[in-house]
Amino acid sequence: MSKAKIKAVRGMNDILPEETIYWQYFENCFRQLAASYCYREIRTPLLESTDLFFRSIGEATDIVEKETYTFDDRNGDSLTLRPEGTASTVRAGIEHQLFYGQTQRLWYMGPIFRHERPQKGRYRQFHQIGVEAFGMSGPDIDIELLSLCWRLWQKLGLAEHVRLEINSLGSFDERAAYTNQLTEYFSTHQDELDEDSQRRLHKNPLRILDSKNPSMQALIANAPRMDEYQSEQSREQFAVICSALDAANIPYKVNHRLVRGIDYYCHTVFEWVSEELGAQGTICAGGRYDGLVDEIGNQQVPAAGFAMGVERILLLLKQHGLQLQNNAEVYFISDESLRASALSLSEEVRTELMGLKLLTHCGAGSIKSQIKKADKSGADVALILGEQEAAEKKITLKYLREKREQITILQTDLITTLQNDFNKGDTQ
Ligand code: ATP
Ligand code: MG
Repeated sequence: MSKAKIKAVRGMNDILPEETIYWQYFENCFRQLAASYCYREIRTPLLESTDLFFRSIGEATDIVEKETYTFDDRNGDSLTLRPEGTASTVRAGIEHQLFYGQTQRLWYMGPIFRHERPQKGRYRQFHQIGVEAFGMSGPDIDIELLSLCWRLWQKLGLAEHVRLEINSLGSFDERAAYTNQLTEYFSTHQDELDEDSQRRLHKNPLRILDSKNPSMQALIANAPRMDEYQSEQSREQFAVICSALDAANIPYKVNHRLVRGIDYYCHTVFEWVSEELGAQGTICAGGRYDGLVDEIGNQQVPAAGFAMGVERILLLLKQHGLQLQNNAEVYFISDESLRASALSLSEEVRTELMGLKLLTHCGAGSIKSQIKKADKSGADVALILGEQEAAEKKITLKYLREKREQITILQTDLITTLQNDFNKGDTQ
């Protein structure tokens, strides 16, 4: 009986070898940058108690209402695959006393799970790189976080293709006062609200501003503005951020309707958006969440951070022509009977020429078929160790991409020859 084919779960992608090179490039870029700002990596489990997310993210959010992967384990404990990284980071920070009397600059990267409708730039397992700063109430650290993002876009060549939108939600009290006003406003227009907004009206009216439904936009545009409900101090804090952005020549747009989908934000919120990704245009989003540590662990710790969607950034990088290959540079061909010598010579090359990508042919195959494989591998040079070469302690270099005669040299000259050809200065 033929067995049904098992496929990957819908919305969860395999990242194949041709792809991982892009991931590594981006991750390395980010790692270097994070280190230059003294942010340190934290790794937390992908599974957490369901309570953690329900308590922190807020019940009337898309994530908790309809996007989590939640299940009971064999002991009957309710667990949830992380639908974002901040709550886990905060949980870990509290559990390991990272927040007592010290500031923390942290980052993480890894998979995130949300049961959404899969489409370009939207998956059920996707990846975020997140940055979180604890113990600093801003606006200085908010500015640092935005500068870090900007530097990353510059490093990746994306600075001209992303737009920063920024807003302030004010303090929690101001946010609450404004929320009341908003409830009043939307209540008087109840007939014009779509289904989602009806539901949010009493649970979380701020989220109505976040609606992407075109038929809601006029109503949203006429809603009261949140800055009108903010204190001098909150407005001043926001003004400091805007003038720092001006001074650093970081382009931005204040968007008074910008709220974040997650409940724990206050004061600064921002999104980096690209026009070139269709509906899934937000590549990075974050802000200040001074109440979250208290919500999870009864500790007053101001905090701010952001998360980037790796898949969307990679889409954008490719759209702008980034092309990376992880093929071999040198392909070592040998007669099967001489394989042991080929392997040991390969090891010598790797010891001396760190960073050179050397593929040593293993398995059967005539010299001719190995040359075909070498050509297909994308390597620039084939090393050939045949019986004749071996007898004379020589080796042949065949240039696969250039019009250049092949040469046969002494094995003792191999390292220097390759070093010249590949300009690998990083010998030990
Ligand atoms: P969106 O409005 O696109 O649903 P969001 O507000 O739910 O985004 P956040 O929770 O702020 O997103 O997550 C941060 C970033 O993670 C987003 O800006 C986006 O780049 C990325 N992201 C969010 N959901 C997905 C997904 N399902 N697939 C791929 N990337 C995603
Ligand atoms: Mg979402």
